[in-house]
Amino acid sequence: MFLTHLTCTSCGLRHEWSCLQNLCTACQKPLFPIYDLAAVGRTLTRDSLAAREKSLWRYREVLPLPANVEPISLGEGGTPLLRAARFGGDSGVKDLWIKDEAQNPTQSFKARGMAVAVSMAKHLGATKLAVPTAGNAGGALAAYAARAGLEAHIFMPRDTPPANIIECRELGANVVLIDGLITDCGAEIARRKAAEGWFEMSTLKEPYRVEGKKTLGYELAEQLDWALPDVILYPTGGGTGLIGMWKAFDEMEALGWIGSVRPRMFSVQASGCAPIVRAFEAGETTAAEFPDAHTCASGLRVPKAVGDFLMLKILRESKGGAVTVDDEEMIRVTREVGSTEGLFIAPEGAACFAALRKLLAAGKIAPEERVVIFNTGSGIKYLDCYEQ
Ligand SMILES: *Cc1c(COP(=O)(O)O)cnc(C)c1O
Ligand SMILES: [Zn+2]
Repeated sequence: MFLTHLTCTSCGLRHEWSCLQNLCTACQKPLFPIYDLAAVGRTLTRDSLAAREKSLWRYREVLPLPANVEPISLGEGGTPLLRAARFGGDSGVKDLWIKDEAQNPTQSFKARGMAVAVSMAKHLGATKLAVPTAGNAGGALAAYAARAGLEAHIFMPRDTPPANIIECRELGANVVLIDGLITDCGAEIARRKAAEGWFEMSTLKEPYRVEGKKTLGYELAEQLDWALPDVILYPTGGGTGLIGMWKAFDEMEALGWIGSVRPRMFSVQASGCAPIVRAFEAGETTAAEFPDAHTCASGLRVPKAVGDFLMLKILRESKGGAVTVDDEEMIRVTREVGSTEGLFIAPEGAACFAALRKLLAAGKIAPEERVVIFNTGSGIKYLDCYEQ
């Protein structure tokens, strides 16, 4: 294994990977795993990838977990990057691509993070895992915990889509419905976890979900033959994928796989819950809690994110931006994408297609640029958002 330690993303304090960790013990900010990339580069090369398995574990050297420990896996990652010529043509962008994350186990990209985080939690001795979730993270935790033989305790807002609730129960998890938002679910876990012996799996409050999600960046580079796109549109809740991809780009540059040019990163949020867009527009370095958060895109219903400062830094450094989309626009564009591209996308993914049009109209994306949209989940889990 090439993981050497964990480092605080804010104060830089070093932590050991070999015991279960949540946030930085000094400043309560997220921890990042750090690898010996010089040593990684001696076994993991761009060419060596061609012969490897089609899952995120093909990047094993830049993931945690000792080499002799079998990962808890359902075949996550290795999703297709699909050309979206018809929707792109209609919208006036010539080189549009969809990374279709609905094709992951449990039908969302939450599988990436949970596969890696559950593998490490089990390895380090956790037996009871708890997570607050607005939807898909619960299903993913339930699935990987079941496969690992661990308990899953899942706290969801009462108005979470029924598909997510039923999925968690049928995967054997202990589901608790809370009258409130994902932040209230998190508070409930914080209150009870010491007494119950739960290890908290909230995104960026443990160090390894971001590692699973960073493989989005590795896959994208590999699938585009090591030339990153001009623009990435990312539907943003906790921001784990955005933060993870940025980390992957830095690691790949250190490995000599890509140069220093980065895509312009755009966060797409729902107008009913847009803390990052608000903070970006106001020039803030952290984001205040968004009041009365509401949107049918449950993955975007995150009024306060622990990684806010990291996201805002990335959006600015990449010369990207942040944009909101109404729920009605998400629902409308779902059918446009469905009928032109053959994918029944999640409202979160749909938000990015609507945002693309806005950004084109505002001149923030040029028609000849290469744009990648992340469809982070499947519309199948959101049937209650659509007309029958
Ligand atoms: C969780 C989720 C998101 C947001 O992902 P983050 O990395 O936490 O910002 C977007 N779309 C779907 C479908 C999700 O489940
Ligand atoms: Zn710190």
